[in-house]
Amino acid sequence: NINPLNVLAIEVESTSEARVQPLTPGMADELFEHDGQITKREIRAVTLSSLAPKRGELLWDIGGGSGSISIEWMLADPSMRAIAVEASPERAARIGRNAVACGVPGLIVVEGKAPAALAGLETPDAIFVGGGGTEPGVMDAAIDALPSAGRLVANAVTLEMEVLLLALHARLGGELIRLAVSRTVPVGSMQGWRPAMPVTQWSWVK
Ligand code: SAH
Repeated sequence: NINPLNVLAIEVESTSEARVQPLTPGMADELFEHDGQITKREIRAVTLSSLAPKRGELLWDIGGGSGSISIEWMLADPSMRAIAVEASPERAARIGRNAVACGVPGLIVVEGKAPAALAGLETPDAIFVGGGGTEPGVMDAAIDALPSAGRLVANAVTLEMEVLLLALHARLGGELIRLAVSRTVPVGSMQGWRPAMPVTQWSWVK
């Protein structure tokens, strides 16, 4: 009794087999086609929680990368809508493929650079900034585009983006968290923790 919405039509390894998608955000990175520029599973799960999708809402996913954030936003409910803005043509095309493979072909992909590419887009309920946040005008454009009570979530892995988020937090308030995930790797015949780069996340309600 498998809900067709939850069946992922994606080629995994050498065989083409349908996979059943889990019901919570934080799907395995391997379930998305990506080039390494993807918000990793654990960080993605927390990011979706911070974005707090509500039925029928529209997300702007700035710096869409593989599209994983938009896709998990849309998987929350068939009423969800998302616009992924991605500067790289190659990645923009990949977002479209991932959306189809994950069962959310309605994901709108805008190939272009923020902030220019944001002009004229339908007013969002929430915005995620996963890339391009250090480009002049991007954070201001996101803040301006949100309606009252709209949510903004931005992730930083670089110091340059982190200082912007610290300044925005000092100016506007909201919540800052730091996420640090480690995975086990072999150390000779034993195992040790290999930390991934920590992510600073700023969440704010307008
Ligand atoms: N959240 C994504 C990963 C984002 S990686 C995922 O889970 O897949 C950051 C992305 O931002 C990269 O794909 C990069 O091409 C894009 N980017 C950088 N500057 C941008 C800009 N000004 N406008 C749009 N996209 C931008």
